Amino acid sequence: MSDLSRPPAAKIIAIANQKGGVGKTTTAINLAAALAETGEKVLLVDLDPQGNASTGLGIDREDREYTTYDLLLEDTPLEEIILPTETENVSIIPATVDLSSADIELYSNEKRSHLLRDALKQTDIDSFGFDYILIDCPPSLNLLTVNAMVAADSILVPLQSEFFALEGLSQLMLTIREMRETANPALRIEGIVLTMYDRRNNLSQQVEQDARENLGDLVFKTLIPRNVRVSEAPSFAMPVLSYDPNSKGAVAYRALAREVLKNNAKTKR
Ligand code: ADP
Ligand code: MG
Repeated sequence: MSDLSRPPAAKIIAIANQKGGVGKTTTAINLAAALAETGEKVLLVDLDPQGNASTGLGIDREDREYTTYDLLLEDTPLEEIILPTETENVSIIPATVDLSSADIELYSNEKRSHLLRDALKQTDIDSFGFDYILIDCPPSLNLLTVNAMVAADSILVPLQSEFFALEGLSQLMLTIREMRETANPALRIEGIVLTMYDRRNNLSQQVEQDARENLGDLVFKTLIPRNVRVSEAPSFAMPVLSYDPNSKGAVAYRALAREVLKNNAKTKR
């Protein structure tokens, strides 16, 4: 029986694709902001040593005293690691380059694949009342990404609307299947979202058609358009939803959030 005195656990979604530059970080930041706009409390875990999600949400490097490294490998209290952001209802665990050494240190750790799951499932975290935890993965299938896949309830895959987009996907799907057979049988695919979509471009349309034919319902209805406001927002240290709330990018990320909310209403914890 579930313990009714405890708040329900947060839904954990890893945003993953081993290719760089496909829109993982952009999706993590803006999906977090869009979910938060509807009143959901969101924690973004920056799992990429590049720390772009941290920068994009306005966390200066000198303010990253504790990071995801500490979450994984130290006993630092969560209150020290979890930082508020300028975006209401969005908190973050930031990252710095020291996370790349964590990837190496993890190999000699017996619990190497489970460290993130253990950290995010500790009961202390319930007191923060998060509804969603989004994990921004690095651009590889390394141990950090494996940690994300072990910790997550589901994986959301951004797919850039360009040639070869689907090729890397089979490797990712294979890894997800392996995860299901081993460490995380309940792992779902939240969905595949086409990013940087350009309606006037035949290639974008071709990639969309191929994706929908091959992956069916796994592909979100929402298309994230290529939109200059989306790419400008991080240099102003804010989600596009704040930077330009009526831009096409902001509107699209709100639609994506609605689909995610709908998915999870069905499988409500
Ligand atoms: P990843 O995290 O997968 O490496 P990013 O989210 O950092 O990818 O995106 C890569 C680049 O593409 C960034 O410069 C980002 O600003 C830009 N970008 C992402 N999504 C869009 C979009 N919808 N429209 C325009 N530029 C985008
Ligand atoms: Mg990134």
